[in-house]
Amino acid sequence: MSENSESRRGGITVETEHIFPVIKKWLYSEKEIFLREIVSNACDAITKLRRLSSLGEVSGIDDSEDAFRVDVILDPDEGTLTVRDNGIGMTEDELSRYICQIALSGALDFISKYEGKESGDAAASGIIGHFGLGFYSSFMVSEKVEIITKSYTDAPAVRWVCTDDGTYEITPETGDIPRGTSVIMHITEDENEFLSPYKIRSVLSKYCSFMPFAIYFTDVKEEEEKKANKEKHEHEHHEDGDSCECDHEHEEDVPKPINDIHPLWQKNPSECTDEEYREFYRRVFSDYREPLFWIHISADYPLNFKGILYFPRITNEYESLEGQVKLFYNQVFVADNIKEVIPEYLLMLRGVLDCPELPLNVSRSYLQNNSYVTKISQHIVKKVADKLTGMFSTEREHYSELWGDIKTFIEYGCIRDRKFYDRVKDCLLLPLTDGTHVTVDEYLAAAEEKHNGSIYYASDKTAEAQYIAAYTAEEINVALLDTVIDIQLLPTLEEDKKCKFIRVDADIADVLKGEGEAASDEKLEALFRRVSGDEKLTVKFERLKDASVPAVVTESEQSRRMGDMMRMYGMGENIPHELSLTLNLENSLIASLASDPESETSQKVAKHIWSLSMLTRKQLTPDELRAFLSESYDILGYVK
Ligand code: ADP
Repeated sequence: MSENSESRRGGITVETEHIFPVIKKWLYSEKEIFLREIVSNACDAITKLRRLSSLGEVSGIDDSEDAFRVDVILDPDEGTLTVRDNGIGMTEDELSRYICQIALSGALDFISKYEGKESGDAAASGIIGHFGLGFYSSFMVSEKVEIITKSYTDAPAVRWVCTDDGTYEITPETGDIPRGTSVIMHITEDENEFLSPYKIRSVLSKYCSFMPFAIYFTDVKEEEEKKANKEKHEHEHHEDGDSCECDHEHEEDVPKPINDIHPLWQKNPSECTDEEYREFYRRVFSDYREPLFWIHISADYPLNFKGILYFPRITNEYESLEGQVKLFYNQVFVADNIKEVIPEYLLMLRGVLDCPELPLNVSRSYLQNNSYVTKISQHIVKKVADKLTGMFSTEREHYSELWGDIKTFIEYGCIRDRKFYDRVKDCLLLPLTDGTHVTVDEYLAAAEEKHNGSIYYASDKTAEAQYIAAYTAEEINVALLDTVIDIQLLPTLEEDKKCKFIRVDADIADVLKGEGEAASDEKLEALFRRVSGDEKLTVKFERLKDASVPAVVTESEQSRRMGDMMRMYGMGENIPHELSLTLNLENSLIASLASDPESETSQKVAKHIWSLSMLTRKQLTPDELRAFLSESYDILGYVK
């Protein structure tokens, strides 16, 4: 600014003239981030002034934290949104340089990178350019933007006004302008949702909740209404001649900042209490269920990032997939769930990560191949695994209690990331049908004598009850693996732990078999094939220890898993089960059938034995149920 106090006009140069329409129409799918850009500039301006003060380059200012503030002022009647700070301010020269040259060329760079791309791409690109456009993003929602700024130096205050056709004017600002900068955005009609106090509050809460200096929000209209109401109220009391006992200074009248300038993740973990962690979780995630536990990461140089990850309490298998990990950049919210920075399976957790070193204005593919980002991600994985192994070894009982809540997450992580599996594999638990938990190694150690290398499991405690009972009668532990994800992890465990998982209704284990030879009987085989209606049915003969059971239907582990998998991927509901029927030669009914396999009674009994052994395998259709009932009544006729 020349000292002669004349105004200076300028135009955005030829090459830049088209940027305003581009900024306006197209840039972000979330236009609201303009407010984050402007408020974070305000905080930066304060940081700069404090730094100068701490370096002794400026004196005479109160540089305590409380002395600084950012005000966001909404004036719906005027159609303006103002962001004011008491930071470093700008001289006219600085204004020209920073706003008209540097910020503009930054915005141009940014735009040229994404020009020609569909706005859909920009939306899909998520993180890209989250800190690219800066100050000029205000034009996404404004037809005119004014800056009134007063440098911390003696330089006079200046005003810059720029309209969305790209012309600007700089004039001296007379009057008593305090140190700092006001950015006054005249909101365009199309974007008048940004004149709603609810909208502004929610945008501030989303992006600015943890910015480092106190931010106050004022709605001028609301203030005026409040004031008018108060006056009316006082006036009425006065008229009535009452002595007014109302407390006019209601608590809500005392302005409170909308942000927490010392977010918990910035604190030293040893100084945080459990209650602080819980309170932070409630506040940030609006979840009133207590988190199960949390991990506070504070990584020093060279990674230099901080964060808190919570294991949420979940009520079902699928809910857990909806975690939320918020990414911050120096206390400024960037975005939720950025897959480049945290492995996808960790996104099932809830938490905050603040990564001030992250290159956020680069492309997504750059982030994917960035070694710093990879290291952050690996560090987080290590910390999560360390927490789990630590709890396993020092709080085994508590860890077992939590297993039901955390296993989906851990198993999913193991399936997705071999490195994570390798870190936690020795603290994966198998819940047993008796309610206790053991590790795979513990199970196998106990099994060494009776069934070395085999882990028996059930996937449905009710449907497989009879099979489970057969194993428990022989004092064999049965693990309960009842979720899809449990089953998906089995091949990894089998390969790594050199074991075999066998469902209780798969082939009959040797331990359930008694002494003596079990010779096949062709006539019985033919009889059961006939009554089952399956001429190719595999019929086996055994002498089972439990003589009370006449027959057991089994399906080999391998073919059942294959079938389950195909059904799961929708490759056909009607994939046939490859069932085998094992007849127990120790059972008296089978013995009597063997002595007279052709009689009508034997046919009926055999049919009923087949039906009963199939009962637990599948749900009967209405027709099958009807047939089963009439067959049962018929059989009851023999008991006279
Ligand atoms: P960036 O913040 O990434 O540098 P911006 O376009 O947001 O880019 O801002 C450009 C420059 O304008 C800033 O670097 C700063 O020097 C100046 N500036 C913006 N807002 C303020 C403010 N509130 N107070 C002082 N200087 C500011």
